[in-house]
Amino acid sequence: MSAETTTTEKPTYILARAVVRRVERVSPNFVRVTFGGSDLDEFGTPGSVFDARIKLIFPPASGILPPLERDTPDWWAAFLAVPEDERGTMRTYSIRDLRVTDAGTEVDIDFVLHLAPGLTGPASRWASAADAGQELIIIGPRRGVIAGGGTEYRPGDAPSVVLVGDETAAPAIARILEDAPRDLRGTAFIEVPSAADELAIDAPAGVEVNWLARDDEQEHGFKVIPAVLAHLGDADASDAIAVKDIESDDLLWETPAYSGLGEEIAASDAPGDRYFWIAGESGVVTTLRRHLVKDLGIDRGQVAFMGYWRRGVAMRG
Ligand SMILES: Cc1cc2nc3c(=O)[nH]c(=O)nc-3n(C[C@H](O)[C@H](O)[C@H](O)COP(=O)(O)OP(=O)(O)OC[C@H]3O[C@@H](n4cnc5c(N)ncnc54)[C@H](O)[C@@H]3O)c2cc1C
Repeated sequence: MSAETTTTEKPTYILARAVVRRVERVSPNFVRVTFGGSDLDEFGTPGSVFDARIKLIFPPASGILPPLERDTPDWWAAFLAVPEDERGTMRTYSIRDLRVTDAGTEVDIDFVLHLAPGLTGPASRWASAADAGQELIIIGPRRGVIAGGGTEYRPGDAPSVVLVGDETAAPAIARILEDAPRDLRGTAFIEVPSAADELAIDAPAGVEVNWLARDDEQEHGFKVIPAVLAHLGDADASDAIAVKDIESDDLLWETPAYSGLGEEIAASDAPGDRYFWIAGESGVVTTLRRHLVKDLGIDRGQVAFMGYWRRGVAMRG
């Protein structure tokens, strides 16, 4: 039985009713929530989590989570079938850590606290007040499911990677680097609100991790875009930022395997000797895409560009 198949006929995802075990304010802008509970017993594959995306369902005003069964085959249809005022709110997150012990499975999620009026939402508000004993529904990969388990990180045989992200992508980058082979080489650029948000990552020795603090004075992308372009030898990197560059109407999702823009995927596309993984605010990712693909001529088959959120727009699951 390969690691890419399930051992049962059950769906590849599970809907776990997860219980908050601990809440830790790990930095000014991150709160780490640790979830447990028996529903997580078959959740996630330790050592192969990488950037697996998970869905969280936050309770509606009543505080009562929707009655969704753990092994629901079509979780999206089941969610939509719940009356809107009983459904709660769905958002997408990453797994910062997954621990399986004799005591059960624990999942850590690092929530960015964006709480300024007009810039906050149900997920961030929930995280800011999370407490032991509360429950969420977590939808994520069943143990043993890797391909198709919501993972986009696909470096193939590339010996070297460039990982780029803002604070929302920091948990995924950290997980990728901790699950990666220890001989991986490359560079990571992680832009965070302040230097105090630089969190420990057990990265392979050959990967240089660059934290870039905005110091709360600059817009998203103002630190990371020039840093990445300078690293790639773009002589015009200092001119790369203009406010118009980081405005975007759509959430960008362009990977070697999928094009949200409807571009043709060439069967021959492969990461080659260097693989790029870029995620964060969609306008910032779009700006980087333009420079990498159009100006620097980097093959789109080498890059996953992923808008994780969009400035001024509430997500819908
Ligand atoms: C695959 C994937 C993985 C992700 N992993 C994580 C993760 O591990 N941790 C994490 O914190 N986020 C992660 N995100 C991003 C997260 O889903 C969004 O930030 C989401 O919008 C938060 O929901 P909300 O209810 O707090 O805000 P929403 O209701 O969606 O938005 C309300 C307002 O808040 C603004 N906003 C949203 N996020 C931010 C932000 N980070 N900073 C400033 N303003 C913001 C919006 O622009 C909007 O104006 C991930 C997203 C994806 C697609």
